[in-house]
Amino acid sequence: MEQIDWSNLGFGYMKTDCNVRCMYSNGKWGELEVHESEYLSLHMAATSLHYGQESFEGLKAFRGKDGKIRIFRMHDNALRMQDSAAGTLMAQVPVEKFEEAVKKVVKLNERFVPPYESGASLYIRPILFGSGAQVGVRPSDEYIFIVFVTPVGPYFKGGFQTTPFVIMREYDRSAPLGMGKYKVGGNYAASLVAGERAHQLGYSNIFYLDAKEKKYIDECGAANFFGIKDNTYVTPKSTSILPSITNKSLMKLAVDLGLKVEQRSIPVEELATFEEAGACGTAAVISPIQRIDDFDENKSYVFSPDGTPGAICEKLYKKLRGIQYGDEPDTYGWVTVLE
Ligand SMILES: *Cc1c(COP(=O)(O)O)cnc(C)c1O
Repeated sequence: MEQIDWSNLGFGYMKTDCNVRCMYSNGKWGELEVHESEYLSLHMAATSLHYGQESFEGLKAFRGKDGKIRIFRMHDNALRMQDSAAGTLMAQVPVEKFEEAVKKVVKLNERFVPPYESGASLYIRPILFGSGAQVGVRPSDEYIFIVFVTPVGPYFKGGFQTTPFVIMREYDRSAPLGMGKYKVGGNYAASLVAGERAHQLGYSNIFYLDAKEKKYIDECGAANFFGIKDNTYVTPKSTSILPSITNKSLMKLAVDLGLKVEQRSIPVEELATFEEAGACGTAAVISPIQRIDDFDENKSYVFSPDGTPGAICEKLYKKLRGIQYGDEPDTYGWVTVLE
């Protein structure tokens, strides 16, 4: 068996031993199958290829000091994938099947779960897509559900750090009554040009405003936003935001830390009043924001003049990571310890 250099893992794809699949046809789901191949044979008229009938999830497994493997909030990912399926007229994967597939693929690839000390983790990627042939615009009658895993390095290589974001009003990620609330590939395709431009200009990503009025905060790239002020955790409420499980977790932990939590529309000018701000999602947990530049208005909202993350961002980050790795008690039942 080849040696993996855990300390130098990035975010690329690494082949593991196997993936777990399940097929839907004739109105029902089949049994879970274990495949060693990374490839699949797909009909060229599959609805996922033409009409974007597809959704995905992202979650992680962590190895604790005790050597045990913990999977974080997979039940919530199962429910969210069901929402995405409903939003794209796909067959829903039953929650038990989703959870069984996740546990199975992690167990079978146990040797790829990085050691505790590395700060790395095992990324779990479930995908669901229409595989039946259609050329007319209608939903498929066949679906494939696959869960694969790949080890990923710690997000913050040089320690917990802030990055800059940029507001560019010429791009939208999703429409108010559109697909933004579902985790579907099409939203990502729609964000690539804007993201690439932001990267070229030296930003970690684009900071989206609501598509209709360009007045309210939406998402930071493919992550939820939160701001901290007056001992309050404030995060946007909007119909075009993907409900982040990390954000949901941070809201709970913020209350535990004695903060108030507000989920409401946040006008863009309110950015000037936050003491700290962050982007949150599975990849980084929290990616604290250094500043947000608004090109059109020729403004810059600075949260960290010297680039160091705020104290509350750091506390929340450490608390959530602690729960994920088993260093902190799992008081909310978020963690599944693999048997
Ligand atoms: C996946 C995703 C997030 C983060 O969700 P988590 O459940 O916290 O990983 C945020 N925004 C978008 C658009 C996403 O696709």
